[in-house]
Amino acid sequence: MSDVKPFMLGKLTWQEAKALFEETDIAIIPVGSQEQHGPALPLDNDSFQAQEFAYLVADKLWPNIKTAVTPLISYGVSPHHMPFSGTITLRHETFIDLIVDVGKSLTKHGAKKLIVMNSHGGNTAALSIALRKLHDEEGLWCVGIEWWKITEDLVKETFDPPHFHADEMETSVAWALGQRVLEDKRVDEPGREPVPGFTKATMFPSQPNIMPVWDTTDFTDSGTIGYATRADPKKGQKVVDEAVKRIVSFIEKVVEI
Ligand SMILES: [Zn+2]
Repeated sequence: MSDVKPFMLGKLTWQEAKALFEETDIAIIPVGSQEQHGPALPLDNDSFQAQEFAYLVADKLWPNIKTAVTPLISYGVSPHHMPFSGTITLRHETFIDLIVDVGKSLTKHGAKKLIVMNSHGGNTAALSIALRKLHDEEGLWCVGIEWWKITEDLVKETFDPPHFHADEMETSVAWALGQRVLEDKRVDEPGREPVPGFTKATMFPSQPNIMPVWDTTDFTDSGTIGYATRADPKKGQKVVDEAVKRIVSFIEKVVEI
C-alpha cells in the first residue's frame, strides 16, 4: 500500500498523532525480519508481509475503528539464517528491548492496547517475553498475531506441506501481497530431517516433533524448505483475504473489552 493513509503514524505530524491518539488507544506494530528467503523471494519478505497485513487491516477498520500503525520494525531474530548472504539478525535481548521501548513510548501517547503483527517465526519467543514485560510493567494489553497461525485450517487445505520457509504457502502469500517474486528461480526442497524420523520442518506440528536448536542449513541448501514452484498468487490471495477478515473481526472485539 503506497498511498499515505491517516493511520500511518510515521506519516503524521506530531499534532496529527496527538489527535489520532485522542480517538484511539490501539496501536499496531508490524514486525518482520531481514533474512534469506531462498532464490525466489527477497530478504525483506517477512517485513514486507507484516507491513502489508498491518495496513490492510487498519484500512479495513478505518474510520469505524481507528488504529495507529507504527513504522515497520524491519529487523528480527534470525541467527539460524546467518550463513546466507544479506541476512541481518538482532540478538534476542535487542529485540525484546526494542519492542519494549516502542511499546513504552506508545503508552506515553495514549496507547492502551498493543497489537504486534509478526511475520517471522524466529521472533515469536522473544516477542512473547517483550509483550509479557509490557503487560506486567506498563499495564498494556498486548497480543502478537501471526497470519499463518490464524489461518492454519485454510493454509493446510490450500498448500502442500511442508509449511515452513519460502515454500508454496509463503511464496503464494507474498506474491498476493505484491512482493517481488523471481518466478523462474523458484525451487522445491522438501527439507532434510536433522534427526531422521523425529524432526520435520513444519510450522504446525500435529504429531510429536522433537526439534533441537537448528540452523536453516540443517534442512536446506537453497534456503527454501517446501515446494515454491507450486506457489500461486490466487491461492495466496485467499489466505490474505481470510487473514485480514479474521484479524479485523478480532480487533472489533478487542475494542469492546
Ligand atoms: Zn518468511
